[in-house]
Amino acid sequence: MPRFDGGMHPLTAQSAYAALSIPRAPTPGPAAQKPSLSGVPLRELESILAPLPRYRAVQVFSWINSGVDSFEAMNNLPLEQRRELDGRFCLRKTALTQKLEDGAGAAKLRIGVPGGIVEAVVLTDGAGRRTACLSTQLGCAMGCVFCKTGLMGLTRNLDSAEITEQFYHIRKFYPDIANIVFMGMGEPLLNLQELRRSLDVLCRTMSPRRVTVSTCGLVDGIESLAVEGPAVRLAVSITTAREELRRRLMPVSAANPLPRLKDVLLRHQRRWRRRITLEAVLLGGINLGGDDASAMAAFAEGLDVVVNLIPWNPVDGLHFEGVPLREPSAAELDRFCAALEGFGLKTILRREKGRGVCGACGQLGAASGKLPEAASG
Ligand code: SAH
Ligand code: SF4
Repeated sequence: MPRFDGGMHPLTAQSAYAALSIPRAPTPGPAAQKPSLSGVPLRELESILAPLPRYRAVQVFSWINSGVDSFEAMNNLPLEQRRELDGRFCLRKTALTQKLEDGAGAAKLRIGVPGGIVEAVVLTDGAGRRTACLSTQLGCAMGCVFCKTGLMGLTRNLDSAEITEQFYHIRKFYPDIANIVFMGMGEPLLNLQELRRSLDVLCRTMSPRRVTVSTCGLVDGIESLAVEGPAVRLAVSITTAREELRRRLMPVSAANPLPRLKDVLLRHQRRWRRRITLEAVLLGGINLGGDDASAMAAFAEGLDVVVNLIPWNPVDGLHFEGVPLREPSAAELDRFCAALEGFGLKTILRREKGRGVCGACGQLGAASGKLPEAASG
């Protein structure tokens, strides 16, 4: 049997929603014209703040990483220095515009960034551990046929401040975040430089073992992580290990074929010795056959992996070659899990966490979040 990671109930009852509309401008105000010091790695901060001594940069950095959003709060700095910093910099270039909660541990935060809204999600597992799911791009260029973010296309990369501030906004409401996953909007490995800067900051408070970067399988990006780190965990959205089908579902796989993907995963694993997660979104009638299970097993051979099975979360209007996508049936799920396990693969079946706030995998996007009437706007 698959291991269920949390045993949460499907979160669909409208009455379970709680939404908070934050009465602030969705786009940052005048203060945000100043550069934000959030998301700036310590080394950079030292040179930005020079000629202040290094220990001052360390103090400012740890205040920022503790989540303060004003220089005034940095009470171990002389008042004069706090004022000067406030005149030159800001600590938030993004603004929380809305928070949706489902009452069962899932929440979606909508955050205004210049040019749009990004979404960050909090999920809670059965043991009460919370995971923050962060976005790295406004939209996504990869065009996977099953994903709402893919429908949006790419507007732009987020910078490190816009990425780390998602975490600070979340932690204000949920101080006990145990894990971070980069599985929100966008493809993290197409924004490697800013991803790395944000990881440099976030991994000062969170062990890299508790941080997972999810990719659609970009060989060059994984190679770069394998060679230069950081040693965060890797999740790869495999979807299916049948090459021909994968190309139709995920256009990115044409330039990143499975044999090259496997090679680079082997190198990553040899270098960092971390178990890799293979994520497979389960599409009813499409990628759940016996040949999908055997191809997955062949791909996993020689790798230390766990297969994370994610039943497709519905998104209106998504089709595959003219046929509307559908969720897998219970029988399809059971058969596919049993087939994978028959090949000796470890599996985790991820139930519909976050659906109640349209914050489940693949449901993040431009007009996402069916908000209760009273809360929208
Ligand atoms: N771009 C990265 C990270 C964001 S997508 C990636 O593709 O890995 C995060 C996960 O959501 C991926 O594993 C993706 O396959 C999955 N996903 C996308 N759309 C989905 C949907 N509608 N239902 C369930 N999972 C989905
Ligand atoms: Fe982009 Fe990931 Fe969605 Fe594919 S699944 S479109 S890579 S966000």
